[in-house]
Amino acid sequence: MASDEFDIIRRYFNAAALAFPSPQVALGIGDDCALLSLTPGMQLAMSMDLLQEGVHFPTGADPWGLGKRSLLVNLSDLAATGARPVCFTLGLSMPSVDEAWLAGFSGGLADVAAAHHCPLVGGDTIGSPTAQAGIMIAIQVHGEVPPGHAMLRRGARAGDKVYVTGSLGDAAAGLAVLHGRSPALSSEHRRALIEAFYAPESRVGAAQIVRDYASACIDLSDGLASDLLHILQASGVGACIAMDQLPLSEAFVAATSAAQRTALAVGGGDDYELCFTVPPDKTDALQDRLREAGVPVTCIGGITATPGLVWTQEGDVISTRFTGYRHFTPEESR
Ligand code: ADP
Ligand code: MG
Repeated sequence: MASDEFDIIRRYFNAAALAFPSPQVALGIGDDCALLSLTPGMQLAMSMDLLQEGVHFPTGADPWGLGKRSLLVNLSDLAATGARPVCFTLGLSMPSVDEAWLAGFSGGLADVAAAHHCPLVGGDTIGSPTAQAGIMIAIQVHGEVPPGHAMLRRGARAGDKVYVTGSLGDAAAGLAVLHGRSPALSSEHRRALIEAFYAPESRVGAAQIVRDYASACIDLSDGLASDLLHILQASGVGACIAMDQLPLSEAFVAATSAAQRTALAVGGGDDYELCFTVPPDKTDALQDRLREAGVPVTCIGGITATPGLVWTQEGDVISTRFTGYRHFTPEESR
């Protein structure tokens, strides 16, 4: 039984599976600060994501899956930048000490941490002020990238092609399955969609290839419609996207009606795929390298000089407006 904060840290977080040694970690958990030995000449890339029970994951979510997801969504930001993971820190606020939950959650974290050679080096653990506050997980990842090689949102130019990795909408459909709001599905499709929610495919490796070719990149956390707009606004350009070219998985198609499909694929969020733009003279070389690496990638449209996002279906412009998820937005105006 863990009796207090320090017991929890020792048993679940300062454990060999999670706080493992790495050449870049001179000092890990246990002191006031961790000490990192960064590769000389590299830039430090940092990103943080909060996951709140009831907002980002349902109450009762599988703790192992949640551990994986919590770290993967953070690593996705490093991927979007083209950075290589170095280590991460964890802030955890819990209403009570649930040993089974802690064991599952730290196990899921360890799974992803080991796969990415990204150990846990510190954090903070507190009790939530009220039971209703639920669990809150804050993770900060630290990575490194050679100066001048980071992918930003602001480099897209008219004439560039727009690409996405993987398929769109699976995580949103997976969340609908977890909430019991999906039609009857085969167990294989159910499993694939739930897996897409808890364990989005890591694009950290793919990003090390993409960064040699892309003019801009973002990871899809809020949905294509919303996230691509960030690239467009930062770059001062527009885009024309072919609805009929969006990559959709078999499980996603089985779980959605034709009417839901496009809205979920472009507005569903939580996919953590990469969306990036590539100058036309570099697309062949990039596609070859991604194919060799086994990374699925689809060209879904192109960048235009006229600002704004235009959607087409079989060549015809469609007038629908799509938005992604935004916090602090009244439900009715989303
Ligand atoms: P301080 O009071 O100096 O901030 P704490 O007593 O909160 O330190 O934490 C003790 C040690 O345990 C520190 O090295 C801290 O980074 C680490 N730690 C606390 N909570 C976590 C956690 N959830 N995950 C990883 N390390 C943690
Ligand atoms: Mg201290």
